[in-house]
Amino acid sequence: MISDSTAMPTFDYSLPNLTRDDCLQLDQADPLSSCRERFLLPEGLIYLDGMSLGPLPKRSASSLRNVTERQWGEGLIRSWNTADWIDAPIRVGAKLAPLLGAEPDELIVADSTSVNLFKLLIAALRVCPERKVILTTDDNFPTNVHVADGVQQLLPDVSLRVVPADQIDSAIAEDVAVVAMSHVDYKTARINDAERITRQAHRQGALVLFDLSHSAGAVPVELNAWQADLAVGCGYKYLNGGPGAPAYLFVARRHQSPFRQPITGWMGHAEPFQFEVEYRPAEGIRRALTGTPPILSLAGLEAALEVWWGVELAMIRKKSRALGSLFVRLVEQWASTPELSLGSPSDPEHRGGHLSFHHPEGYAVMQALIARGIIGDFRAPDQMRFGLAPLYLRFVDVWDAAAALAEIVNERSWDQPQFKRREKVT
Ligand SMILES: *Cc1c(COP(=O)(O)O)cnc(C)c1O
Repeated sequence: MISDSTAMPTFDYSLPNLTRDDCLQLDQADPLSSCRERFLLPEGLIYLDGMSLGPLPKRSASSLRNVTERQWGEGLIRSWNTADWIDAPIRVGAKLAPLLGAEPDELIVADSTSVNLFKLLIAALRVCPERKVILTTDDNFPTNVHVADGVQQLLPDVSLRVVPADQIDSAIAEDVAVVAMSHVDYKTARINDAERITRQAHRQGALVLFDLSHSAGAVPVELNAWQADLAVGCGYKYLNGGPGAPAYLFVARRHQSPFRQPITGWMGHAEPFQFEVEYRPAEGIRRALTGTPPILSLAGLEAALEVWWGVELAMIRKKSRALGSLFVRLVEQWASTPELSLGSPSDPEHRGGHLSFHHPEGYAVMQALIARGIIGDFRAPDQMRFGLAPLYLRFVDVWDAAAALAEIVNERSWDQPQFKRREKVT
């Protein structure tokens, strides 16, 4: 059935007689299979939570050791210059650029997604001061709405408009300063049409600010081809930067010289070591910086971005769609309870790198899966999420995870007190 590596993307996942052996053969033919070795993955575990916290790349582990013991331990303060710590936010931003369809000088890595969102929302509102509305969607990640609400409270003449995602086009009116949206929905993985939304926003004279937290490393992102203005996103999800890895921030070149962000710290100053009292913003994207960069976290992320070197992004997308289609197909075939239903778009064209399933006892079902060494996560009120990261997942993992999920829901083995005890992080 599978003769060469090109067979992978055209494989017919809907075959009724598909077997586990077919999956093993697919893994052998998979041109991305060697990428798995770039990660330290615990033996016997199926990790389907790369959209929440990517696994540890081997080169990040060794880089963190080097930066800690040599650069910090031995180099001490000298490493700001000798190891070029000072330019890490710019250098790592440049390494991220190819994954986002941006130029190297359009990105920096700094702060958290929430903080970067705050900076960019205020900067966007300053571009066109007569426009007073921030437009977002009601299914956006809560922090995005909270931060926009915080901006609204800070600036009395600014207001936040929150609409259902399918009404976004008609909600882009002449008073909108910025349309702030997630490109891929954090719960359902639905892909919003960034190019169309950008076109629509520009037609009305508004800017767009995309959150790429669930896009970068999962689906094709073409910030400049879309003509996007601003963007933010997380470093610790599909980019595998490590827990609490710094986030990124994109400002299209054409917006960089008038760009003014509100947290004007010394690292965004034109000459921080002149110690001038007056603030003069640095040229270019550097002015988006605020304080001293978190060098250890940046080192983890920088090494994790190097894992993508030589990886064909079109192949990532193909494999991601294939893994998703297979998972959906097997669960639909094996799960015999109507309580379980797909929460993601059924057309792989319209969904990103993870799958979501509704189940009224989704939390307990997920805990039962985790107890069997299959790790996904849960998003209240009833969605289980399964991340299908093509860099390190195999088709056989999808087979085994789908089999376990079906068994747990069919046999109701989730119905035990230890699976219902809620942890702080779900
Ligand atoms: C994960 C995620 C965040 C997280 O923001 P932090 O500030 O890094 O905690 C924000 N927005 C979206 C859309 C996300 O998916």
